[in-house]
Amino acid sequence: MQTVHTIEWMKQIAHEARAEERILGLVPTMGALHEGHFSLIRAAQREGAPVVVSLFVNPKQFGPAEDLNKYPRTLEADRAALEALGVDYLFAPSPQEMYPSGFRTAVVVEGLSDRLEGRSRPGHFRGVTTVVLKLFEIVQPRFAYFGRKDAQQARLIRQMSTDLNLDTNVVVCPIVREADGLALSSRNVYLKGEDRRSAAALSRSLAAVREEIAKGERDANRLLAALRRVLALEPRVALDYAEIVDNERLEPITNLRGTSYVLLAAKVGDTRLIDNALIEPDGEHFKVSV
Ligand code: AMP
Repeated sequence: MQTVHTIEWMKQIAHEARAEERILGLVPTMGALHEGHFSLIRAAQREGAPVVVSLFVNPKQFGPAEDLNKYPRTLEADRAALEALGVDYLFAPSPQEMYPSGFRTAVVVEGLSDRLEGRSRPGHFRGVTTVVLKLFEIVQPRFAYFGRKDAQQARLIRQMSTDLNLDTNVVVCPIVREADGLALSSRNVYLKGEDRRSAAALSRSLAAVREEIAKGERDANRLLAALRRVLALEPRVALDYAEIVDNERLEPITNLRGTSYVLLAAKVGDTRLIDNALIEPDGEHFKVSV
């Protein structure tokens, strides 16, 4: 595996790959890698193309009161894990390399970026889409892999890719979870003791929605009430939002139809977590993937 720190070198590699008609797969990450990230890498490898993993803790997607400084950074362990997985290139630029002084441009996907996570974290998605477009331009990947764990983010990036006619296909992969259902996240290291146990309630609340749907419930408010009942049993969990939204506009729906998501964010102790379930029509019924 080659570790690449400069944009110039990464562009050179991308250029040579294109000249030799080798298509690259890109997996963007902020490091502190776990099985969720590895599942994206394996999906990229199945495509048969050389895989670039980018590792960049993007300052532009953190709010002023957020955890940029304490965000876990485990570069050496990450590098060893990527090496063991057979990744071809690790692209790990510095903040100065990505945002030299005088940097002024931002990419905003209007409408989709100020709802849900965007309302709780103003400016977050502006930072995400800006860095992802830069990564797409630098690496020129044919495929880029994102986790459904960040469903709103994946929806925005797909929209950006369509709107700007990018040559990168956005692939969204399933959520990888711990045995008790907690979605893997680099931020899970913040969860200590009782918080770690309580955090499993998030996926249990989504499973409760799945059970209600299996029993025939189609009313979004009643489904969300079932979700809230589960979370209310956990005093350490403070719900930020829970919504059932359509897959296209991410607007709340009143009754299940088409493809939709249950999206939620909650604080568990001091740690903010997000989770979701995907609801897809399946004949007369709905298939719910937690
Ligand atoms: P991050 O390093 O947290 O920015 O995540 C990098 C990529 O990994 C994003 O596309 C995430 O959606 C994805 N990811 C993070 N956690 C998981 C998970 N538990 N399962 C699947 N994908 C994940």
